[in-house]
Amino acid sequence: MSQPKAALVPSQAGPSDLLALHESIAGLLATQGDWRRAYQHLRAAFDISHAGSLRDSLTASYNRRYLDQRLHGLLADHQGRDGIAIALIDLDLFKHVNDTFGHLVGDDVLRQVAALLQEGLPTGAFCARYGGEEFALVLPDVDADTAVKMAEDARARVARFPWSSLRPGLRVTISVGIAHETRPASGRVTEAEWQLVRADTLLYAAKRAGRNMVAYRDRESIQIVEHPQ
Ligand code: GH3
Ligand code: MG
Ligand code: MG
Repeated sequence: MSQPKAALVPSQAGPSDLLALHESIAGLLATQGDWRRAYQHLRAAFDISHAGSLRDSLTASYNRRYLDQRLHGLLADHQGRDGIAIALIDLDLFKHVNDTFGHLVGDDVLRQVAALLQEGLPTGAFCARYGGEEFALVLPDVDADTAVKMAEDARARVARFPWSSLRPGLRVTISVGIAHETRPASGRVTEAEWQLVRADTLLYAAKRAGRNMVAYRDRESIQIVEHPQ
């Protein structure tokens, strides 16, 4: 059976043209003394600029700033019964991808992984680039079993993607550590950091288990999701 062709996500054109347009129009209107409309265009420019400050320029997914802001808000206000899951995701042996295929292919891989991670997220959930070749998935209002299943589905989506049609011999997998919390919110700002630390410990366990794995905590012990290779 022939492999499906990889439909690689294109690099995103930024909204900087629109931003520049609003700024120029605002300047023109200001010289004509039309302050009300100049303000409207400056406001639109500000909104575009603000939205851009919360996005990662390479993958167009949310960035670390957005993640920190949303997480603190979510954990402080959280009233849901099912809790919140945070999955930390790291590309496996990604340095090797860069070294073998070049940094630009590495960039394409990061864009495509971001797109695959965002597929099928439920309302309220989001994906953010945590830094380098690491991403975070935040899944509010999901129970622990569902969260682990969603992480495993994401891992399988990346592993199954036809990477070799991007470059012959290219293979990409991810490791995932997923921390699920059901505690009632205490409002402490360190809560988000602690959950991220727990997810990071689990991510490390997934790497140690051989990579291309999802690790989670079941009561007090760390578990690895089993899957056919
Ligand atoms: P491991 O499975 O243990 O995570 O191995 P690894 O090779 O993925 O980990 P390592 O930390 O050694 O390498 C991460 C690489 O990710 C090195 C760095 O150059 C690359 N990287 C980080 N950000 C970017 C980026 O924006 N674009 C590209 N192309 N590479 C990046
Ligand atoms: Mg890393
Ligand atoms: Mg890595």
